[in-house]
Amino acid sequence: MIKGKKLYEGKAKIIYATSDKNLVIQYFKDDATAFNNQKRSVIEGKGVLNNRISEHILSNLSQIGIKNHLVKRLNMREQLIKLVEIIPIEFVLRNVATGSIIKRLGIEDGTVLKKPLIEFYFKNDQLGDPLVAEDHILAFEWATKKELDKIKKTILRINDFMVGMFRGVGIKLIDFKLEFGRVKVDDKYEIILADEISPDTCRLWDSVSDKKLDKDRFRKDLGDLIPAYTEVAKRLGILHEQTNLSAVNVTKLSSVKKKVR
Ligand code: UDP
Repeated sequence: MIKGKKLYEGKAKIIYATSDKNLVIQYFKDDATAFNNQKRSVIEGKGVLNNRISEHILSNLSQIGIKNHLVKRLNMREQLIKLVEIIPIEFVLRNVATGSIIKRLGIEDGTVLKKPLIEFYFKNDQLGDPLVAEDHILAFEWATKKELDKIKKTILRINDFMVGMFRGVGIKLIDFKLEFGRVKVDDKYEIILADEISPDTCRLWDSVSDKKLDKDRFRKDLGDLIPAYTEVAKRLGILHEQTNLSAVNVTKLSSVKKKVR
């Protein structure tokens, strides 16, 4: 597989062309952004952890029949993925109310929802990714009714799977964001899961202490983001138990970063 030119650079990832027109390489950067790009930082090792965690979750989802863009992880920072036509919607599922929804609607932080809530945000940085209704998606033809129904069903299946997976390792899945895209299969378009699923895109709280093990450590200046993401990876069995959570780990990850670059 030959790595070609850069096709796109986003806030946390870069996409490169390959010698196969249907496949691209997704590179995980260490850049962290929040509040529509107003807060930025580089957190060494974050991309390596997100690459591994996302690979783990997406391959588990494949095993239960949820199609996604992952072909295989190539190295510490890169994955080979299917090129999709991304649907310009961020699909957010919430099990517990926190983050933007509590500010928008005046809900108490940590309110457990009776049933999972799916929200739609129009992907547009200039507009700050506004919340939209299902009818907006249909009116502006961002997706068809059939596609949307399929996506909503898939999101609920993903939630069921991930709630169980995280519960098994002592973590509460509070909310998460997903993206979907279209791929052409035998002259027909099919919807598959795309992007990443990682502590950058999920809220994960320790089941006992409610300690935040996700990007809120950056958003809220709580510090220790790498140890928290490492903890998630370890509990999922991705990193070995004996791996030390201390700063040594960060040094190791940084040296890996230098080698792959
Ligand atoms: N999220 C994301 N990318 C975004 C916005 C949100 O991955 O551009 C994730 C976020 O990590 C959380 C969920 O979606 O797990 C809900 O985020 P919320 O709407 O509360 O947004 P925020 O607090 O980031 O403004």
